[in-house]
Amino acid sequence: MKESRITPEKQNLCPLCRVPLPDGASFCPHCARSIKPWTRQKAPKPLQKKFLHIAALVTALAVIASCT
Ligand SMILES: [Zn+2]
Repeated sequence: MKESRITPEKQNLCPLCRVPLPDGASFCPHCARSIKPWTRQKAPKPLQKKFLHIAALVTALAVIASCT
């Protein structure tokens, strides 16, 4: 049975005290400094933005259709 070791490169480290942080930690348990979740920066925001654009377009079309 192979046991995958956690590489220090992959593991989140506190930028201040270099203490390994637990997965999904928003702050360092050592210095209590808030850490930005780098791995979760790529949130599906464009999708929501796209939806908003479509919603705005549909609303605009409905307004135009009702006016004419
Ligand atoms: Zn720290």
